[in-house]
Amino acid sequence: MTTNSPHTARSTHPTRVAPVRDIAVVGAGAAGTLTAMRLLQHAAADPGPTRRVWLIDPAPTGRGLAFSTTEPHHLLNVPATNMSAHVDQPGHFVQWLGEHGHGDGFVPRGLYGRYLADSLDEAVRRRGAPELVRLHERVVSISHSPAGGDGDRGGSVELRFATGQVLAAHAVVLALGNFPPDTGWAPTTLRAAPGFFPDPWMPGLSAAIGDTGDVLLVGTGLTMVDIAHTLRRPGRVVHAVSRHGLLPQRHGEPLLPPADPPHLDGCAGLAELRRAVLCHLSRCRRTHGDWRPGVDSLRPLTTALWQRLAPDEQAAFLREDLRHWETHRHRIPPSSAEALRSAVESGQVTVGSGTVTGAEVGPDGIRVVLDDGRALTVTAVVNCTGSQTDLTRVADPFVTDLLGSGLALPAPLGGGLQTDPTGRLLPAAGRTQAPLWTLGGLRRGGLLETTAIPEIRHQADSLARELLTHTGVATAPAPQLLDATASNGTR
Ligand SMILES: Cc1cc2nc3c(=O)[nH]c(=O)nc-3n(C[C@H](O)[C@H](O)[C@H](O)COP(=O)(O)OP(=O)(O)OC[C@H]3O[C@@H](n4cnc5c(N)ncnc54)[C@H](O)[C@@H]3O)c2cc1C
Repeated sequence: MTTNSPHTARSTHPTRVAPVRDIAVVGAGAAGTLTAMRLLQHAAADPGPTRRVWLIDPAPTGRGLAFSTTEPHHLLNVPATNMSAHVDQPGHFVQWLGEHGHGDGFVPRGLYGRYLADSLDEAVRRRGAPELVRLHERVVSISHSPAGGDGDRGGSVELRFATGQVLAAHAVVLALGNFPPDTGWAPTTLRAAPGFFPDPWMPGLSAAIGDTGDVLLVGTGLTMVDIAHTLRRPGRVVHAVSRHGLLPQRHGEPLLPPADPPHLDGCAGLAELRRAVLCHLSRCRRTHGDWRPGVDSLRPLTTALWQRLAPDEQAAFLREDLRHWETHRHRIPPSSAEALRSAVESGQVTVGSGTVTGAEVGPDGIRVVLDDGRALTVTAVVNCTGSQTDLTRVADPFVTDLLGSGLALPAPLGGGLQTDPTGRLLPAAGRTQAPLWTLGGLRRGGLLETTAIPEIRHQADSLARELLTHTGVATAPAPQLLDATASNGTR
């Protein structure tokens, strides 16, 4: 059944329209929104067949996990000057902030969500832009018709929604983003406790925890910094522990530009790479008085260096170096670092190393035992261990169906999905490759450096071009039964 707009049954008087090519983007977080925006912009200037873009997400456009927060102290961890949605207009976000009466720097993340939604609306209004249809639906399963009337272009894909409706598309982008953190570290008694919060980003977390009693945050990264600020109250201690107890580093003041990239080829293996990177950082400290320009100068090289490591060296890097790399690479704004420092100094927040080895629920709350023998009695334990990237451990019906269908393969070492260099998913052995692509965090296994906006906007741009090429060849299109009510709006 190929029914567009999505229906569970064919409409009684369908209109047959020939050459529209449907491109579906699943997920309207930053990655999906940027992809849809670039598709509209590039398609407006494309002489090929008419495209129609479907943007599918039950959540509002542009927000996703990172930018849906309304808390003013949840700040961007990248300066506004590097957060433009457009690869070809680096000052676009700063200009938008000015037009909306805001300064730049590390602005609240909620503003960025609004900016992305506005940027997509602007692309919709562009002369010649194809139709954009937004569907507030959750995709729960997928199937592929290799011979969907589409010759050698990969056939068509059907997406089934939680409502039972089905959408057929010539190409699909899976911009599924971040999944809730793993809870495998938590003892069973803790997971069953009413005061255990497995997802730190659940709406209403603060109200659910209330204003009294101490709290334990497991994880000491970027998420912990945000949640500690949210849960701080007079008379409460917020404890934060992780295996290493490492906190994210702060951005420097003033912000310095990246240093010149070093000559590293990574061919000599991980041990030599570690040595060369440390030398480069020492040199930068001597030259610039700061290691940060050195770390930032590695950013354009990271993917190539990662790809040159042998699989066992990649595993060793993830095990032994990743935490240090991330705490230096993904830094927090100076104001967040200052607020955390003063909370630690006043005893409102404690940060240390430790793993949870046991938990008991009692009349005073949850008594959590750590591996050094310490016991903390707290009202709530919040899982701040970071998004789950091992898709085989994600409890999501769509991900389960996708992997079960063989249309996608999980990347080794919990790195999202296996793709070719364009982001097109690689299928299981014996399965035909479907016209399915992904970007952002789900490409971590292949790229490593792929989760922040500066990388995602480049991926979205090249993916949009790739999708237009894929859907632009004048093969006979699959007959589409179109609902004439489709419009640039929301359904
Ligand atoms: C707390 C936090 C703060 C961050 N801050 C920054 C920052 O300041 N700067 C920066 O550059 N990067 C930041 N990042 C990195 C961030 O991951 C990316 O910048 C970006 O937001 C990722 O967007 P995404 O669209 O890939 O994922 P997400 O934001 O997770 O969005 C995925 C979307 O897909 C939808 N979806 C999932 N499954 C389905 C389905 N089956 N059907 C339909 N829809 C579905 C979800 O509802 C969601 O809206 C931050 C990340 C986090 C977690």
